[in-house]
Amino acid sequence: MTAQVAYIGLGTNMGDRLRYLRRALLALGSDPDIRVQAISRVFETEFVGEGQQDPYFNACVAIETSLGPDTLLGRLKSFEKREGRAPDGHMLPRPIDLDILLFGDKILRGERLHIPHKGMRDRAFVLEPLGEIAPALKFPDSGETIAEACAKIRRKSGPWIAPLTDEGLLPEVAGGPMNWDLNKEDWRAALAVHCR
Ligand code: ADP
Ligand code: MG
Repeated sequence: MTAQVAYIGLGTNMGDRLRYLRRALLALGSDPDIRVQAISRVFETEFVGEGQQDPYFNACVAIETSLGPDTLLGRLKSFEKREGRAPDGHMLPRPIDLDILLFGDKILRGERLHIPHKGMRDRAFVLEPLGEIAPALKFPDSGETIAEACAKIRRKSGPWIAPLTDEGLLPEVAGGPMNWDLNKEDWRAALAVHCR
């Protein structure tokens, strides 16, 4: 399969949330079949759903991958599991949730895999970070851009969302900001440093 650009939504509302996000980013970056292209800031966001839960940290990353969407989902799920997420933990507090938001211009309507991700158009916690890295990107079905979807959701009064001002998802390595052209070995080294 030729390489495609996909967008992954990351979320966590348990324990050291920044650490969980970083571990996920570094796991993606060190995967031999994935190249991380861009990452958003981290946003703290109000829990959306039934009942009460602690606020989330959310972020988005753009990746390039030669994997198909099913295989990519399998890798995301096994990483979630490794991080201690209960397999049937839908709507429960979780150390990490990794969703495929968009995958090239694919439209899939399965239970196991629905792309564009169900509900993403109504969720500021997905659209705001995604809008930072891909404002001009279009939904493959409607043709609406992410920036347009963001503008629409901002006009409604919804759950609160606020970017973290002092800490990003990007850990610093060797005294400087991480270089995007890191090879897999460097990603793995960063993973070891930041995710002990
Ligand atoms: P949520 O992300 O909505 O909180 P879960 O992470 O528990 O819920 O996922 C529930 C199911 O959604 C998973 O078993 C997965 O197979 C399915 N799913 C459907 N489409 C996608 C997608 N685009 N990305 C990730 N999971 C998806
Ligand atoms: Mg999920």
